[in-house]
Amino acid sequence: MFVLVVNAGSSSLKYQLFDMDRSEMLAKGLCERIGTDGLFSHQVPSKGVEIKKIAAPMPTHADAVSLLVKYLTDPVYGCIREMSEISAVGHRIVHGGPWLIDSVRIDGPDGKVLSDLRKCVDLAPLHTKAHLQGIEGCMQVMPDVPQVLVMDTAFHQTMPKKAYFYPLPYEICEKYAIRRYGFHGTSHRYVSGKALELLGNPNAKIVTCHLGNGSSISAVNAGKCVDTSMGFTPLDGVIMGSRCGGIDPAIVPFLMEKEHIPVSEMGDWMNKKCGFLGVSGVSSDLRDVGAAAEAGDERARLSLDILAYQIKKYVGAYAAAMNGLDAVVFTAGIGENNPDIRRESMADMEFLGIRIDPVRNADRSATRISADDSRVQVFVIPTNEELVIASDTLRISQQK
Ligand code: ADP
Repeated sequence: MFVLVVNAGSSSLKYQLFDMDRSEMLAKGLCERIGTDGLFSHQVPSKGVEIKKIAAPMPTHADAVSLLVKYLTDPVYGCIREMSEISAVGHRIVHGGPWLIDSVRIDGPDGKVLSDLRKCVDLAPLHTKAHLQGIEGCMQVMPDVPQVLVMDTAFHQTMPKKAYFYPLPYEICEKYAIRRYGFHGTSHRYVSGKALELLGNPNAKIVTCHLGNGSSISAVNAGKCVDTSMGFTPLDGVIMGSRCGGIDPAIVPFLMEKEHIPVSEMGDWMNKKCGFLGVSGVSSDLRDVGAAAEAGDERARLSLDILAYQIKKYVGAYAAAMNGLDAVVFTAGIGENNPDIRRESMADMEFLGIRIDPVRNADRSATRISADDSRVQVFVIPTNEELVIASDTLRISQQK
């Protein structure tokens, strides 16, 4: 059984093809600059096939899908014989709003599922419009193949109302569907599930730290999300590459007035000019910021200190929210690869039962990085959002 996972952006489309009999990724690639001067990259690791950014005209998302199917079925560059071998397509959806609360199969071009997704355009305009283009492209090229939506917000739907409701006028929240949604849900679900297996305790209390360009932290009690740091949009929570994370909301109108920033630009400003980039002035990539801090740059050092401190605060807060803590999980680019942030954020947490083992923390292959006498286990678990999307897609496409 082969499942194609698609992550469509406004001018790009990432894909991975999975062999679900072995839960193995067979091929992956990227269509870039759709609609302008298209570029195509494609890899089949088992065959040693690697195509890097070749020029390939693709005026629409449907053309991008046709192109990737052509390569997937190519005798030299591909890994399947024909398109009909693809059993289902799974789409990564950033925002499902209050309407799409679980992975779901598309019930036709005019069905309820796509109509619900269109309602999400208001909540996440750029992402949702891009997803719709990707879905339409796949439906055009593969009209008989089941298409499934897997939402980044879905895992967080189990939060209690006191965790997701903002203290704004009740009617306003209802009118505009304003609430904490949370993001990276597929990743939090995957790594918390793995941690439950490692602990051998389905009722464990876990804090999952997904730290990448975008970062979010979740409290997961017995496999259910009870709180998360991102909110109505993926801007809330901890400091990120170029996003500010949570700030006093009064700063926004203050700055708009003082710096003459129009409403149309303020969102972009908070998403692209802040975070590590804004504080350090060096880069949004924590590798560059870390190197600058090593070299004595104080603002770079401050960026790292803010991140570590904010992670610590979330872990403490979520331990309190869950009345206990059994494990902390680090994942994504920073969580998996940056031992300094793990060490600094978990330092001086003995009161909570957390003690990192420095040798394990420095070992790139270690899963458990806590010391033997640490009551709380600390894990590094590589995330695999695409595999979760492929598994959901297969399961749902096979339901009668
Ligand atoms: P995204 O959120 O876009 O998926 P990633 O999960 O790849 O991003 O995370 C990007 C961040 O992870 C960057 O700040 C980068 O510095 C860090 N990172 C990624 N890979 C490594 C690595 N091998 N070593 C150290 N840091 C890394």
